[in-house]
Amino acid sequence: MWLTFSQIIRIIIAITLSIVAVRFSFSFDINKFLEDRRKIAENKAKNVCTHLFPYYTNKWEIAWLKSAFLSPAWTTSRVCQKCWLILYDIDEEHEKDKINYYFAHNKEYKKREKNFEKLLKKAWY
Ligand SMILES: [Zn+2]
Repeated sequence: MWLTFSQIIRIIIAITLSIVAVRFSFSFDINKFLEDRRKIAENKAKNVCTHLFPYYTNKWEIAWLKSAFLSPAWTTSRVCQKCWLILYDIDEEHEKDKINYYFAHNKEYKKREKNFEKLLKKAWY
């Protein structure tokens, strides 16, 4: 069976389009997949972050915890220096309670920090 000239052209166009579509969607999906994975890890890290900095004794025991939130001079918001979470309204009492809680529950704090570091690595590397 012989194909007409216009049928051949149509087949060539169809093949070309499908190759372009497959290539495009493939590269697009990979980038999106990596970006999604990075974002998910970043969000998880923000959830896991205690937003606290530890001060250690010379025996590597936690001496005290300090809020990691910093208020940039030009805004009223607070930024966590560890996970870059931005809060517009901070509850000072809640922050104090959290510091006391994690200071009393050292192990939990260290576990969360480890988890946080793992997630941060996933998010940025
Ligand atoms: Zn944080």
